[in-house]
Amino acid sequence: MRTAELATPMGVVLAMLLSMLGCESDRPEPAERPAVEPAPAAVDAARLTAADGEPGSWMSYGRTYSEQRYSPLEQINTETVGELGLAWSFDLETERGIEATSLVVDGVMYTTSAWSIVHALDARTGEPLWRYDPGVAKDKARHACCDAVNRGVAVWQGQVFVGALDGRLLALDAATGKLNWEVATVDPALPYTITGAPRVIRGKVLIGNGGAEFGVRGFLGAYDANTGERVWRFYTVPGNPELGFENAAMAMAAKTWNGKWWELGGGGGTVWDAMAYDPELDLLYIGVGNGTPWNQEIRSPGGGDNLFLSSIVALRPDTGEYVWHYQTTPGESWDYTATQHIILADLELDGKPRQVLMQAPKNGFFYVLDRRDGTLLSADNYINITWATHVDVKTGRPVEVPGARYKDSPFLMFPSYLGGHNWHPMSYNPDTGLVYIPALDIPANYAQPEKFRYRPGITNLGTDGILAGLPDSQAERDAMRPLVAGRLLAWNPKTQKEAWRVEHKGSWNGGTLTTAGNLVFQGTADGRFVAYSADEGKRLWDFPAQTGIVAPAMTYEIDGEQYVSLNVGWGGAFALVFGEFVQAESIPNVSRVLTFKLGATGQLPAVDWQPTVSFDPPPQTADDETIREGFAEYQDVCMGCHGLNAVSGLLIPDLRGSALLHDQTGWDAVVRNGALRENGMAAFGDQVSPEQSRAIRAYVIQQAWRGLEVQKTGLTRR
Ligand code: CA
Repeated sequence: MRTAELATPMGVVLAMLLSMLGCESDRPEPAERPAVEPAPAAVDAARLTAADGEPGSWMSYGRTYSEQRYSPLEQINTETVGELGLAWSFDLETERGIEATSLVVDGVMYTTSAWSIVHALDARTGEPLWRYDPGVAKDKARHACCDAVNRGVAVWQGQVFVGALDGRLLALDAATGKLNWEVATVDPALPYTITGAPRVIRGKVLIGNGGAEFGVRGFLGAYDANTGERVWRFYTVPGNPELGFENAAMAMAAKTWNGKWWELGGGGGTVWDAMAYDPELDLLYIGVGNGTPWNQEIRSPGGGDNLFLSSIVALRPDTGEYVWHYQTTPGESWDYTATQHIILADLELDGKPRQVLMQAPKNGFFYVLDRRDGTLLSADNYINITWATHVDVKTGRPVEVPGARYKDSPFLMFPSYLGGHNWHPMSYNPDTGLVYIPALDIPANYAQPEKFRYRPGITNLGTDGILAGLPDSQAERDAMRPLVAGRLLAWNPKTQKEAWRVEHKGSWNGGTLTTAGNLVFQGTADGRFVAYSADEGKRLWDFPAQTGIVAPAMTYEIDGEQYVSLNVGWGGAFALVFGEFVQAESIPNVSRVLTFKLGATGQLPAVDWQPTVSFDPPPQTADDETIREGFAEYQDVCMGCHGLNAVSGLLIPDLRGSALLHDQTGWDAVVRNGALRENGMAAFGDQVSPEQSRAIRAYVIQQAWRGLEVQKTGLTRR
């Protein structure tokens, strides 16, 4: 059995010291030692820094500090992958998006499901060891732009760390799953959320947050792994200058802002996903998100770069001290975050070895930077873009197309606010020299809002463009659908050119994993888990996962056997908002861990899922003006979860089929007073007046009549 003492960091340190001092001389020779299980999650700085030399484990979010998501394991390769089969599966028992990368250390898998629930499993068998539910209040989902998701945990010296959706950081005992400490990393009164995975550098747990759609001031925090005490906090945007600045970086950043952004929700710039670390340079790299509101004309009238929005920032991990930044989208106005996956690699460029940082942020350009100082080495668009012609490598700035800032008239953009690439991790294979990007190809319209008023606690985008995300007429909607595409893109960062691509049926597909077996693994929106050859993109193997996949796969080895594992379960921003596409493609959510090895033959139980909405709307009694008002209010308050045009992605009830359309009192009890709070439907009485509630209902009744007609004529089917 594991001893509790060994699980403590001090125990591990003592054991290491004793072994280094040679205090084991009275023990038997190694070969004769009794089998002693290692302390669980006994991960330290030495092990994390040398993670590349420990291919059997996956000890941090991107496998190594460089976040390449490349595994040196090669038992599963282009020759053998055909024999890959299901070794075991584990039901996660939640019904929202599943985005986590599992960690595997010393035979134990640590993973998360929706609602920030942590599971420890036997990595050989999937047998559950423990489960910890942080008990996030379900109505906190109102502050989650992009579903109640979680992207995974970090481990360090016998502890497992998870960021909860409500902004807490928790430390669990890796052996038992018991809570060691928890700390609120954000002001719980504000619409912050955590969906990203923590990272640990030398005993400091790093965690950011989300919430820039609603209105928050972004930052990254560092916490002592043993106590949970905050060591430092780095803000990504300046606060009110009259209150003074936290550091010189904030004073510098404030010169690039206009107006009173701190009164409009705090500027945004949340650090909700990407981090990477170079131990040699001792630099921590973070990706910074979009502004609040999106529309720069409102956020910072007259322009300015608005540092550090949409930037990659390098910090000292011990102190949070600013070192350098590179801004991908100066004065961003389209939700063009630079929170996307950051990969560190050593590339030979123009005959010289370079220490580079690579990112494919939302704005559609693939960036290669010198990670020592942030110098731009190259940038080229990896998907179709309409907002800029190119990036000027001399100035490091994009050259925008006139009109892209939609000041005078609406502008149809590629890529959309979902990006050319979102949170779904990419991967880099040093053998092929290629980066495998889960690319999105989706347009969006942006326009000045008819009126804008900052409303604390709900989405404050400051653009009406999203209203045109799907047009009003069914014919136009049907014409729009083929424009929404997605692909697996193999990108050569040296030449900034595409090597190969695989077009997918759906847009919102899984992250990628690449291996020394010349393989790339990716799950798809339409429920297939596929292996391709990494050099040519040849499709070699697939498995029907019965659910849309958005998470990336990972791989590990135990007792000489290589496993490939991924979490499946459809969800996230696209799944919630683009309900029309989800219903047309019939994508269910079945939340599971699926683990594969060679020669296994496991089967999944059959899934019976029919995406039907039963329409029974009452007669429409409201006038056009009321419906129009309901439409506007729906977009601001309801759309983010219940879907564009009131068509739900079915992770959340489709309001057009609600019996409460017949009952204004019951409708108000839910919408205004939180009767279904326990199910995740928050009380919106603080936002929605009785008149507005009636207007929203009138709008949904209109959409229900329309849905009924479409269902009769079968128009929503391709
Ligand atoms: Ca955003």
